[in-house]
Amino acid sequence: MVICVKLSIIVPSYNEEGNLEELYRTIHSVLKTIDYEVIFVNDGSTDKTKNELDDLYNKHDKHVRVINFSRNFGKDAAIYAGLEHVTGEYCAIIDADMEQHPKYLLDMYNFLEENNDYDQVAMTIKKRKSGSAISRLGGKLFYKLINKLSDIHFAEDASDFRMFRSYVKDAILSLPEKNRFSKGIFNWVGFNTKYMQYDVGTRLNGKSKFTFKRSIKYAFEGIISHSTKPLRLATIFGIISAISGFVYLMYIVIKTIIMGIDTPGFPTIVCLIMLIGGIQLITIGILGEYIAKTYLEVKNRPIYIAKEKKGIKNTK
Ligand code: UDP
Ligand code: MG
Repeated sequence: MVICVKLSIIVPSYNEEGNLEELYRTIHSVLKTIDYEVIFVNDGSTDKTKNELDDLYNKHDKHVRVINFSRNFGKDAAIYAGLEHVTGEYCAIIDADMEQHPKYLLDMYNFLEENNDYDQVAMTIKKRKSGSAISRLGGKLFYKLINKLSDIHFAEDASDFRMFRSYVKDAILSLPEKNRFSKGIFNWVGFNTKYMQYDVGTRLNGKSKFTFKRSIKYAFEGIISHSTKPLRLATIFGIISAISGFVYLMYIVIKTIIMGIDTPGFPTIVCLIMLIGGIQLITIGILGEYIAKTYLEVKNRPIYIAKEKKGIKNTK
């Protein structure tokens, strides 16, 4: 890869009309002394995002690059596409909605310039945005659970807002998986990471794409893509239910044969069938999730399809 600029900034953008011009203006005012490029990845937006990006490109083609996807592939695919096309010595990822203020880009940049022993700066959320108590509790539980289940550590309140050196980017791209859970991948590749805190701003226009339902699905996918421990649950459930079954059998034998007390068993049988049936279905379901993921990986489809690229220097 040819290094052309000092800093590349990737902006995954899905239905972000009304935000991009302001974001670019702020990035430019913060970074005007640095040689930078901004790669906007339009993730199949259905609003005016594309037109706004065309305008930005026409006005500022020195700094602006645009990749238009053929449809919505998801934020992680957009990040991947950006990473494939950056030319910077450093690379950063920032949301399009101004919740992550570009002023922090300068803090991260200065830190990496001054601290050669660090490879990556990751931003963690200082003040949780005014989400509901349930979603905050959900977030906390997710990090507790994923840290228990996975071999790598996930920093609580970590985001995709970060900056890293180009060899970290190469390491991230070297992971061939199609189902990309970026937060996990950033952790998995390792490297010396500095955590800094940022205050979440308010979204300029539009609304969050991560609804409660989508966040649960996302959390679930994060666990499945970064841990195989749920598969072991089947074995654990099996052992527990076999041991309890055996103990119960002994109890019935002693009660009926030795003590001569007759035991009517209908309710017990119904309860046990439901319990064991439930456990079996859960474990089959978990197995199914992993098989589905394997199926999707084996198909080996591309992570995204780009319809159009503008100003891109690093063509893969
Ligand atoms: N995003 C994307 N593709 C999607 C969903 C979101 O590129 O399918 C982008 C979105 O445009 C934004 C960033 O990912 O720049 C974060 O999304 P959002 O603000 O909706 O999420 P939240 O901040 O609520 O976590
Ligand atoms: Mg947001």
